[in-house]
Amino acid sequence: MTCLKPENAAPGETGKGGRDFNAFQDMAPRAPEEAPRETRNGARVKTNDVAPEGVYKPNYNILTPHMRSPDYVQMSTAAAITLGIMQGRMHRCACTRCLNLLLTYPEGCRANCAYCGLARHREHERDYADRNFIRVDWPAVPMAQVADIVAKDGAKSPFHRMCISMITHPRSDEDTVQVLKTWTDRVSPDDIPISILSNPTTMTRDDVKRLHEMGSDIFTVALDAATPDLFDRTRGKGVQSPHSWKKYWEILEDAKDIFGPQKFGAHIIVGMGETEHDILTLVQRLVDMGGHSHMFCFFPEKGSLMDHLPATPRDQWRRVQLGRYLIDYCGARVDQMTFDEEGRVSDFGLPRAELDTVIDAGIAFRTSGCPGKFAEDISACDRPYGDSPPSNIASFPFQPNGHDLRKIRGQLGMPKVKA
Ligand code: SF4
Repeated sequence: MTCLKPENAAPGETGKGGRDFNAFQDMAPRAPEEAPRETRNGARVKTNDVAPEGVYKPNYNILTPHMRSPDYVQMSTAAAITLGIMQGRMHRCACTRCLNLLLTYPEGCRANCAYCGLARHREHERDYADRNFIRVDWPAVPMAQVADIVAKDGAKSPFHRMCISMITHPRSDEDTVQVLKTWTDRVSPDDIPISILSNPTTMTRDDVKRLHEMGSDIFTVALDAATPDLFDRTRGKGVQSPHSWKKYWEILEDAKDIFGPQKFGAHIIVGMGETEHDILTLVQRLVDMGGHSHMFCFFPEKGSLMDHLPATPRDQWRRVQLGRYLIDYCGARVDQMTFDEEGRVSDFGLPRAELDTVIDAGIAFRTSGCPGKFAEDISACDRPYGDSPPSNIASFPFQPNGHDLRKIRGQLGMPKVKA
């Protein structure tokens, strides 16, 4: 293999200048504008102080109720449909296997990450509980009601895992503990294992320890950006956001010590301006530590500081998906792969027959994340259409079929070789 770029990439599948990857110089976020004082810190919601009445579905035409964790949490639309509190159908999916619970406050997340729909710079435009996040709405539900519904099914629940997503807020650490307690008082971690998607900026090693002692199974850190420069540009000083690469790695190291091998990991977004070599080197570093990587394909989230930028070209995404799977689950190493002058994978360093077997199995192209009850390399966290529209799927929330695999092979530039 020399260059894997398909010659007939469809419109909308390429980066700027027709490139088959998103280059650093093309992916600069807009500068955040400061919200008017009277709209900051959830002032609208707190002034109106409307009492919540059960489930709240994002609604831009009414006054958003005053909801707070630990009494309230938000959940993905897919989780709300699976839980039965929202009607709806998902393209080619009967349900989701992960119940993602997001902390909620009128003040919202106090960070300003450039790719995120929940970021602080949106506070003048939309109340926190109404903001889109990974392409979907997140209804708010009383936490006790969530736990009661799931407790009725116990181990027979469609959910294979529950995950608490922390945000950057002064109450986040304490309230995560309370949400976890409400859950474990009703649902055994043996029936439904628990993951924590942490917010390192406000956390200490003792916080990590406490969450482990309370029954959490896996601890993840949303690094999101694959290099220190990119991290600073999208989550740190570059967008007046409080996060630092150093602090994220400190908490990741704590998670390694406390949760142990295979029980910690990092989220990484592909296509924000890093090279394929950067990201697969990071994947290797995590594997060498004993952890895993969970990948997201960059999608320009509406209302975010990067909503004017191109989604990750599918050929870049597929190369990284395949490379990551080979390193994470097949014993391959980044140093046996070859990269071109743009840092793209030009050779995975494996015989073609071995690559074909992995590609045909299809798992490499499914959504990656914490495992459920099917297999170690099949994520419970399937996030249907969280990083792409159904018309051009990036992470497959189900097993790709023959048609899907032919399309994937086209995106990889690796059509099936006839025997
Ligand atoms: S800390 Fe998380 S929720 Fe908050 S803006 Fe950043 S990515 Fe979004």
